[in-house]
Amino acid sequence: MKAQAKTPKSVAIAEASIATQTLWAGEEESLLMGATQVPIVYSAAYGYPDVDEWLDVALGRKPGHIYSRNTNPTVHAFEEKVRILEGAEAATSFSTGMAAISNTLFTLLAPGERVVSVKDTYGGTNKIFTEFLPRVNVEATLCDTSDHAQIEAAIAQGCRVLYLETPTNPTLKVIDIARLAAAGHRVGAIVVADNTFATPINQNPLALGVDLVLHSATKFLGGHADALGGVICGNSELIEKIYHYREITGATLDPMAAYLLLRGMKTLYLRIRQQNESALKIARWLEEHSAVAGVNYPGLESHVHHDVAKRQMKGFGGVLSFMLHGGFESVKQVLPRLRFAHRAANLGAVETVAGPPATTSHVECTAAEREAMGIPEGLIRYSVGIEDPDDLIADLTQAFEGIQR
Ligand SMILES: *Cc1c(COP(=O)(O)O)cnc(C)c1O
Repeated sequence: MKAQAKTPKSVAIAEASIATQTLWAGEEESLLMGATQVPIVYSAAYGYPDVDEWLDVALGRKPGHIYSRNTNPTVHAFEEKVRILEGAEAATSFSTGMAAISNTLFTLLAPGERVVSVKDTYGGTNKIFTEFLPRVNVEATLCDTSDHAQIEAAIAQGCRVLYLETPTNPTLKVIDIARLAAAGHRVGAIVVADNTFATPINQNPLALGVDLVLHSATKFLGGHADALGGVICGNSELIEKIYHYREITGATLDPMAAYLLLRGMKTLYLRIRQQNESALKIARWLEEHSAVAGVNYPGLESHVHHDVAKRQMKGFGGVLSFMLHGGFESVKQVLPRLRFAHRAANLGAVETVAGPPATTSHVECTAAEREAMGIPEGLIRYSVGIEDPDDLIADLTQAFEGIQR
């Protein structure tokens, strides 16, 4: 969890560009017997014949591991890699993105306190706000995602936590992180940002002023749709508290998943660079197509917060969404015709993935709840993979030709 001891190599890695860091960062300490790749360590506990040494490790005076629910060498390498990519002091990981989110909120919030967030957070996050936090007498004020003045007014009334997510899922709204982090800090709030959609390649919330940045590693970080995980980065004091909650309540990342995520992250920079480029090309193409009623992508000049996105993002990400003329009936005709897209509740993978909010991001919500959140039923979320974008455009072209209205 803590930053590793400095070596000439770790100093060089810290100073290298993010492309180089995706390969080399975080692994040094966990390598074993000359192996060039981080081993998958499946050991529940770690033995110390010397009781003094055991005590030193247990009390954190010496590096090492005690029990894998707390820390594990493979998991540690994954945490270190993300920590360095996000430019953070400390990081800890979880079995899933939702575990990262729920553990963080339950660590930071006590009965009688208040959290301010937006209506468009990830569906599971929204359920934490509307179902689980009220049970422990924590009030969640969820604002209109595009109305920064309204969010600022809610923050000004006082809150313990300000929780942001940008770009949002599935409507790709953009929140001005620096502006709202400053508003949060004026009232002494801890500011948290879900950076799953942007990844550290495209956006660095800590540099924009937030206190904690978290990810569903299941998505772009892993990138291959074969492992679940979550991670959070920030200063040592906050991470220590969140880690403590997780070590006791037990939503630990499995070493095999940590290995798959680490392996996936080796190509993070290359994948994101391609996905940024392909998504922008496809978004521009969709905008011109007569079957399409609207496109949500922060990289489009037509996006309401394109100026904010340009300021705080280095690339606009691999996810877009679009509305078809004819609503859900058209969605039901188009999705089965796609050849180069998994129709699945996932995103951020090497293959393109498409689906409606009703079965993906907001499967936990009723149609009425989605309506209230401003999520149209005729929407398709399209997570662009690393296929040739021209093949994806050809695929969409033939799928749209089948729409009967
Ligand atoms: C998927 C997702 C989550 C939840 O992550 P899991 O790993 O599925 O638990 C949280 N936030 C965002 C933005 C997501 O896309």
